[in-house]
Amino acid sequence: MSTDSKPLQSSAVINEAVQTLRDGGLVAFPTETVYGLGADAKNPEAIQKIFTAKGRPLHHPLIVHLAAPDKFDAPQVDWVPIIAPWARDISEDAIKLMNAFWPGPLTLVFKKDKTVLSEITGGQDTVAIRAPAHPIAQEVLRKFKGGIVAPSANRFGKVSPTSAADVRSEFEGTLDLMILDGGDCEVGIESTIIDMSSGDKPRLLRPGIITPKEILAKTGVSVLKTGEVSSDEHAESIPRVSGSLRAHYAPTTPLRLYAPGRVLDALSEYPDTKSRVAVAVWDSESSLGEDGHPSVHFEEMEIPSDSAAFASYLYRSLRDLDQQEWDLILFPEPPAGEEWDGVRDRLQRACFGSGPSSSSQDSN
Ligand code: AMP
Ligand code: MG
Repeated sequence: MSTDSKPLQSSAVINEAVQTLRDGGLVAFPTETVYGLGADAKNPEAIQKIFTAKGRPLHHPLIVHLAAPDKFDAPQVDWVPIIAPWARDISEDAIKLMNAFWPGPLTLVFKKDKTVLSEITGGQDTVAIRAPAHPIAQEVLRKFKGGIVAPSANRFGKVSPTSAADVRSEFEGTLDLMILDGGDCEVGIESTIIDMSSGDKPRLLRPGIITPKEILAKTGVSVLKTGEVSSDEHAESIPRVSGSLRAHYAPTTPLRLYAPGRVLDALSEYPDTKSRVAVAVWDSESSLGEDGHPSVHFEEMEIPSDSAAFASYLYRSLRDLDQQEWDLILFPEPPAGEEWDGVRDRLQRACFGSGPSSSSQDSN
């Protein structure tokens, strides 16, 4: 079987995608974050195909993607009737967040409506919902007229895809998959996830490009960050987020972080001397200025020192570097600051899961 990538954007291609979804098939499509592997959120067999294709454990919940109204003026959209068939107990804070950030890279977790399939929620009583901003995702959703579950279109534990070619290489030879090609994803890392289901303060479950600081500034809503515990809460009540497993987004080549100016320290973790090492260096710094190492060949590559530009570049560079047969990849530790939390989180998990045996790690 082969993967089948269609150039955009004729409505015939979109119609074919919609028909494939209605028939219980899978369609990969671009969102502003990463490419998603989509299925009809009301069709248990179609949902099962996602878990099989990704090799994803069944208890990891999926995000339901919904359409924004056809012609909309963002501040005027009433999101409540749009999410009401899926979610209950929609708070004032949730409405503020939707008004400020939807459509966009923000996922909200609600108590689920009883009609929501347990296959989506991993058996939990909550459901995660997002309205993506990408025009192709929106067009598919509007024409489909229903919810589409769409986890990242990659095999379990691997680096998320940010181009149609990435999706093709993930499933080539294993899955007959329609892929809508929307070019490179702008954001480049997965959505920020906020739990709105506790009736207490909103809680950050996965950092992304939209930060608690930005949420507070735009809406006045304060979001508890990981590690901050509100008065009447216990850690066990936090919903599972597959992206929160330690190993995730992992390249096959070993990946490590280095502290500012400490490239050789990062190498010393490796008793077997590595001979070909790719070292990422901030574009704001001229060069490593390393005197070198007797048996190691370093090759430097510049990476953006702006957090948003870095996010959109991260998975692309990990995939490309993974193809180049380095013995080791070194990235600089991202600086302190909330705007770096999303990429720091992805990089740390990518390091933990990296290396030739990464496919056996516990991850999504
Ligand atoms: P992906 O689209 O592959 O990045 O994965 C979707 C993310 O949303 C995963 O990390 C899921 O665990 C998370 N998610 C989906 N539903 C829920 C839920 N009900 N509660 C908490 N997290 C969820
Ligand atoms: Mg994923």
